Formats: sequence, structure tokens, C-alpha cells
Amino acid sequence: MVDLTRAPMTDGLGRRIDYLRISVTDRCDLRCRYCMAERMKFLPRNQVLTLEEIALLADLFIARGIRKIRLTGGEPLVRRDLPDLVRRIGRHLGKGLDELTLTTNGTRLAENADALHDAGVRRINVSLDSLLPERFAHITRGGDISKVLQGLEAAHEAGLAVKINMVALKDVNENEILPMLHWCNDRGFDLTLIETMPLGDIDADRMDHYLPLTQVTEHIRRHHALTPLPYRTGGPARYHTVGGMSVRLGLITPLTNNFCADCNRMRMTCEGRIFMCLGHEDHVDFRAALREGGLEAVQPLIDRALRLKPARHDFHIAAGAPAAAVRRHMSVTGG
Ligand code: SAM
Ligand code: SF4
Repeated sequence: MVDLTRAPMTDGLGRRIDYLRISVTDRCDLRCRYCMAERMKFLPRNQVLTLEEIALLADLFIARGIRKIRLTGGEPLVRRDLPDLVRRIGRHLGKGLDELTLTTNGTRLAENADALHDAGVRRINVSLDSLLPERFAHITRGGDISKVLQGLEAAHEAGLAVKINMVALKDVNENEILPMLHWCNDRGFDLTLIETMPLGDIDADRMDHYLPLTQVTEHIRRHHALTPLPYRTGGPARYHTVGGMSVRLGLITPLTNNFCADCNRMRMTCEGRIFMCLGHEDHVDFRAALREGGLEAVQPLIDRALRLKPARHDFHIAAGAPAAAVRRHMSVTGG
């Protein structure tokens, strides 16, 4: 039995934790250069949580005060049982859970958009780092942009609000940031720009393509006024209005403007490990406890995890610094 009488989750610094990101798989059909190495080794399937295990843990976290869940990965839609999981977690919407969302690369969105909406998903993030087919194929090491564009159309038709995630990459897509802003504006999408983070080995030096968003906003401001907005979605992005447009511009700036002070998030990997920070290795293993002792064995571990939440991440990107501050890839912890 899940104990509903326990207090909502608060970490050692008094931060209320009410947002859970779940990486449902470490696998992906793309190999984005800033995210993965070309020859990624994925986890054996028996180490990955089953749909039932993820759903049980989600029940437990919702009972302990999680109000927003984002499913991510790897690519969540490569898991064939994902629509069932969304339906299962979606039953909590309006009964403890305020929002269930998804971050996806969009390649399999066309066939899943209706099911997501039917299960209660209303907003999704779709990653798209370039609108140029060849550049998209280069960044993703072989991806086909037409599938993502079809997916976006299906999402729009299904009634899902879309936010595009774009990792800003020096000498790769920096000249597409303004065009992307216009493209999103024309389609009613929001746009969030992300600084590349030093997570996992990627066969390259991240410094080569690191682009501080301070530089990007300076460039945008030459064309459009940017005004900070109080609008928040519970995540790390800080939003701005863009002069003359209706698009909201989000900025995720772990390197140039640390946002840890009001972090409300915890993350569960597809192996059932709880990480309280993307930028730290400390974690608590829920899978072993769940498989050996059921949910009752897991409950005390939540408090242990809360005590692990650090004041801030330790990311920094600098010449000569190790390529990866944390050995785990974003796809394992869930972006
Ligand atoms: N496959 C899905 C996707 O691409 O949207 C979900 C998982 S992906 C890890 C989640 C987000 O993390 C994506 O927007 C991706 O661009 C971003 N990401 C991956 N590696 C990153 C890194 N090292 N630094 C910054 N963002 C990264
Ligand atoms: Fe896959 Fe997403 Fe990582 Fe790209 S960013 S390789 S789509 S998990």
C-alpha cells in the first residue's frame, strides 16, 4: 500500500519537489552529435524498467506530491508500450497530477499524436535543431526531417501544443536561430534554446560547438526586443516575449545563468535510478528495492533521495576541462 499520509517532498534546502522526469528508455533512433556517441551501447532490456514498474513508481511519486511528469529518454516513442504507459499515468490527471508531458524527437509522432492527446497529454516538446534537411541529417547522424515535420503536423491536428527545443551550436546551427524563431511563430509553436551541457562522452570536444546563449540573445535583440515573462512551465526555461511576434522564447542556460536555486525536479532513469540533479552522480537505486521488496521497500528510499539533492550542478565548459562533467549521457538520465 502506498502511504498517502507522508508529507510532500521537500529537499534539505527547503525546495519543494513536485516535478518528475522519467527516462523510459535509453534507446533512440537518432544519434544527435551533442547527445550520443556514434556507437552507443544501450542497456540490456532486463535492466530497463517494465511498463508496470514505471507505472507503479509513478503512482507512488504522485501520492508523495509530484504534480507534473515528463516522459523522455532516449526517444520515448521507440518504446512500443509507450501509449499504454501514457494512458496508465494519465489516469491521475486532475486527481493529484496536474500535467503529463513528453519530450520527443518527433520521428514517430505522426502515428502517436492522437493516442497521446486521448490519454490527456496537452503539450509536448519536440527537438529540432535545424530546418535544413542536410544539416538535420548531419546533426542527428542520418535522421530524416520529413518524418519530424509530418509528426509536428499530426501533433497540431491532434490539438497538442508544441514547443520546439533547439540546442544552440556554434558553427552548426547558429545562423538558423532567427529563422527558427520566425518558423515557430508562423506555426503557433514556442521555441526554447538550450546550451549544450557536458554530459557523457560524444567522440568530440563539446567546446568546439558550445554557444553561450548570452551571445545568441544579443544577436536576437538587434532584430527584436526581448522582454522577460513571468510565464513558467515548471521546468528550467526562462521565457521572453519577442517584439512583433507571438512566439514565446525560452532559454535554458545551465552554463551562463545557473537556475538551481528554485529547482523543483527529480529524475528517474530507465533503470529505476533516482537522480536528484542532472549534473551529479549521486543516486538511489529503486529497481532493486522494487523487484525485491515491492513498493513498501521503495518508500523509505524517497527520503534518502531527497537528502541527496545538491545545492547546484557543477557544470562548466572551458578549454582544457574534461569533455564530460558527468559520465552519464542525457539520454540515460532523461533530458
Ligand atoms: N529523444 C528526445 C528528444 O530528443 O527530444 C528526448 C530525449 S533528449 C535527451 C531531451 C533533450 O535533451 C533534447 O531536446 C535534446 O536536444 C537535449 N540534449 C541532449 N543532450 C544534450 C546536451 N548534452 N546538452 C544539452 N541538451 C541536450
Ligand atoms: Fe536521441 Fe534525443 Fe539524444 Fe537526439 S537528443 S540522440 S533524439 S535522445
